[in-house]
Amino acid sequence: MPVSSAPESGYCIGIDIGGTKCAVIAGNRNGEVVMRLERATVDGLATWPDAGETLAVMVESVCKQLEIAPTILYSIGISCGGPLDSKTGTILNPPNLPGWVNVSLQAFFSGRFGVRRVYIENDANATALAEHRWGAGIGCDNLAYLTCGTGIGAGIILGGQLYRGKGDLAGEIGHAVIIPDGPLCLCGKRGCLEALASGSSIGRIASQELGIPGLTGKDVFNLVKTGNELAATVVSKAAFHLGIGIANLLQTLNLDRVIIGSLASYAGEKYLDEVREAVRANTWKSIFEGTKIIPSGLGKGTQDLAALAVALPIED
Ligand SMILES: [Zn+2]
Repeated sequence: MPVSSAPESGYCIGIDIGGTKCAVIAGNRNGEVVMRLERATVDGLATWPDAGETLAVMVESVCKQLEIAPTILYSIGISCGGPLDSKTGTILNPPNLPGWVNVSLQAFFSGRFGVRRVYIENDANATALAEHRWGAGIGCDNLAYLTCGTGIGAGIILGGQLYRGKGDLAGEIGHAVIIPDGPLCLCGKRGCLEALASGSSIGRIASQELGIPGLTGKDVFNLVKTGNELAATVVSKAAFHLGIGIANLLQTLNLDRVIIGSLASYAGEKYLDEVREAVRANTWKSIFEGTKIIPSGLGKGTQDLAALAVALPIED
């Protein structure tokens, strides 16, 4: 385990803020997690400013166990659902955290601990940074990481730099329209990729098709494993739609790698092959052959590493 050294410790803090739980992770610049604390969001983290105090106490507790003062932390990185402003380090009005509106985490943590480097990214961008640094994107300067869980979003790295777009909204591929006038999406539009191919959408569509209420994406993949043909058809359609979304992304950005998170970890190789086939059929041969479409390389601690990666931005 690396040991801290003055004047700045070698430790960074990653903070993963979610609608159900928040975690404070201490790690070093090699992505080794040395300490973590987790708390349910309902437990003092649901509304600001109480949540700030709770997080600060968690950071202090982690630092105490590491026997360092928070003031000598190398950096703090925060991974959180958007929308947010990475330039000012502000969480805007995330739907999964209704008690946090226009919260400047950068100002809060800089003021509280005097740490100069405080960064914030949305969770897709954070995971793309972690894949690029430690996972399936090592050595690759043009990649997209796709979250494919409840929703679909992408973190995009171009020319070795995270591409955030004008207002931190780059990579919102889950709301690219795949079928005009298709099923209604939570964003209010119709036929978005997310409404057709996310884990939740696979569950919802399979519930309708099979007449079994309340199916999750994982349930559907388990049904496929038992030989359920209707479930397999739902999954194949979702894979096809995801493939169209990825094909459009590749046709626009000519990426080296597309890394698929969440779904790909439990969906299996057949699903990934169906996605690849849809991409192949809908892009130029030269673009398809220059790209690898692969599952996440980070494993179980993905969210922790994503938060740590934000503490270590590429440009740092
Ligand atoms: Zn949408």
